[in-house]
Amino acid sequence: ASLDTLDIIVLAVLLLGTIAYFTKGTYWAVQKDPYASSMANGSAGKSGKSRNILERMEESGKNCVIFYGSQTGTAEDYASRLAKEGSSRFGLKTMTADLEEYDYENLDQFPEDKVAFFVLATYGEGEPTDNAVEFYEFIKGDDVSFSEKSAEESPLSNLKYVAFGLGNNTYEHYNSMVREVNKTLTKLGAQRVGDAGEGDDGAGTMEEDFLAWKEPMWAALSEAMNLEEREAVYEPVYEVTEREDLDATQETVYLGEPNKNHLEGHSKGPYNAHNPYIAPIAESHELFNDKTRNCLHMEIDIAGSNLSYTTGDHIAVWPNNAGREVDRLLDIVDLSKKRDTVIGVKGLDATAKVPFPTPTTYDTVMRYQLEICAPVSRQFLSTLAQFAPNDEVKEKMNKLGGDKDLFAEEVAKKNFNIAQLLAHVSKGQKWDKIPFSLFIEGLNKIQPRYYSISSSSLVQKDKVSITAIVESVEVPGAPHVVKGVTTNYLLSLMLKQHGEENPDPHGLNYAITGPRNKYDGVHVPVHIRHSNFKLPSDPSKPIIMVGPGTGVAPFRGFVQERAQQAQNGENVGKTILFFGCRNRTEDFIYKDEWEKWSKDLNGQFELVTAFSREQEKKVYVQHRLRERAEEINKLLEQKAYFYVCGDAANMAREVNDILAQIISEQRGVDKKKGEDIVKSMRASNQYQEDVW
Ligand code: FAD
Repeated sequence: ASLDTLDIIVLAVLLLGTIAYFTKGTYWAVQKDPYASSMANGSAGKSGKSRNILERMEESGKNCVIFYGSQTGTAEDYASRLAKEGSSRFGLKTMTADLEEYDYENLDQFPEDKVAFFVLATYGEGEPTDNAVEFYEFIKGDDVSFSEKSAEESPLSNLKYVAFGLGNNTYEHYNSMVREVNKTLTKLGAQRVGDAGEGDDGAGTMEEDFLAWKEPMWAALSEAMNLEEREAVYEPVYEVTEREDLDATQETVYLGEPNKNHLEGHSKGPYNAHNPYIAPIAESHELFNDKTRNCLHMEIDIAGSNLSYTTGDHIAVWPNNAGREVDRLLDIVDLSKKRDTVIGVKGLDATAKVPFPTPTTYDTVMRYQLEICAPVSRQFLSTLAQFAPNDEVKEKMNKLGGDKDLFAEEVAKKNFNIAQLLAHVSKGQKWDKIPFSLFIEGLNKIQPRYYSISSSSLVQKDKVSITAIVESVEVPGAPHVVKGVTTNYLLSLMLKQHGEENPDPHGLNYAITGPRNKYDGVHVPVHIRHSNFKLPSDPSKPIIMVGPGTGVAPFRGFVQERAQQAQNGENVGKTILFFGCRNRTEDFIYKDEWEKWSKDLNGQFELVTAFSREQEKKVYVQHRLRERAEEINKLLEQKAYFYVCGDAANMAREVNDILAQIISEQRGVDKKKGEDIVKSMRASNQYQEDVW
């Protein structure tokens, strides 16, 4: 829905008030941007949609609401899939609901014959996703008050609910969001149906965990609500109409512009997660000296945008899909010839939101709106089967969709994206019967990618730098090299900026000049996300940083900042950086800068390196930490801040464990006590992580 400026201001004020109320002002310290997303998404206001979920369900005839708390879109996708399945297999009247779009005071009046699902991702250090903050604060509040019943009377005894969480076991607070919500709802008297499921991204089993959880859940729900399963029939969620009256050159047609202002050519702030700033790239260069790999340094100019950052924040880059992949997909679904045909997309149900602006074109949807390069979900295969070009292909798709091991072997391990998979299974025969709505339902909306800002806002407040390794994944046995969507887009932009004759060495053919060439002159759409990963406010405090590979990104900003503070005559404490890479000639990034800043920091800076491939036995930053055990412990006793950035799956967890060991050995306490000390350092922000 489009909102005019007045709506936006009213919404923002309302929302700020609400947040201030629920958080008693403490939210201001947490540097997220909660109102940014609500402004663009807000459903109150002119559209007349109410924040009263019971009213909303009643008026649209729903008996099942699937709430989602989503940060990167996966929880939202699972919610949509549950909604579809509930409707097609069990005849439930389902709707999905963004948690931030409703109020929860009247949950105590939730009708007994209806059900609420909660699909909840846990974010960062066990936090709710941005869109779930208000809901979470509300139900967890000490004096949670519902409109009719009080806390003593089990106010939610009428509420039947289903819960699934998305988490990552490499983080300390694994799936804490779903666990906490589950606990709280039970405490308030609500009745859970089925188990509270937990998906684990850390182990790479999210999708399979979800699939394994949902079958018994459906069985329990059928029993609880007396549902009868029926043969699932596909019903489109969206109506897609080809608009003969429009052609793609007309200025009312979206060709990748993120919203109305951008389409009308007067993009304006505030820039946020729903409204990117088309930023000029001031400068860019290659950081590696390695013919086979690329690592980019980019300086993004935010002057005049009203965007601001502080050292340690993240910048989000809005990618588009490589032309090669767009072509591949349009071809296999037989839409190549119609790629520029204008289409209108409308929700067939009042509660179905179209996830992008329309009218638009097939090409635009595939290029700018949907995540078409990502791995394919097993459940989606089964849905696609019914639209197979022939029975043999249909059978194959059903088999792949129904058999976890076969799927792992023949699809997941081969790194197929959707187009590659379709072409592989049908042996190139076109899939011309798939309703376009199914792609919008079944593929995720393309997500901005985050980068830890690698510059200091004290030194360069108008220029944000990015340090990004270009993803190119070759797996033995897989027929394709996976080219990361965003980083290869950035690589093309860098090569273009350098005037390279061929800014497209891998034939990816990105639309680097953007829709209608609006991004020409080397621009990239971005927004900034504030983080809690921060230097101590007192620069004389010592800091220890652990950042191998691109994990060094935010620490470049930290060291740049402390060097400047030292130059300004401030008393800057000991600054130690543990950095690791393969060897000093190929991927030792920012070598000259460390040397310069070391001088500026007058001996207060030390770079400890681990070059893994310079000797027979691999050496990592973890080993170096151990060698410095005594010194690290001393600094921690002087209240040094400890920071870790980079790989969440292995490195960050190992560093955590090594630190606990160091503390236990050096202070002569047992292992458990060492772990507890690290935990309390985390709780007090003395230990901070920025991992992905
Ligand atoms: P994507 O297209 O998203 O692919 C990513 C990976 O997914 C691939 O490498 C591959 O392993 C897998 N994949 C994709 N498609 C398939 C397929 N079809 N089959 C099988 N596997 C597939 N990165 C940095 O370099 N520097 C940073 O400073 C940095 N900071 C970050 C900070 C935060 C808070 C977060 C969350 C992430 C950060 N990242 C950083 C990671 C970054 O956001 C991106 O994830 C990364 O650059 C890859 O993006 P991409 O679009 O190029 O790759």
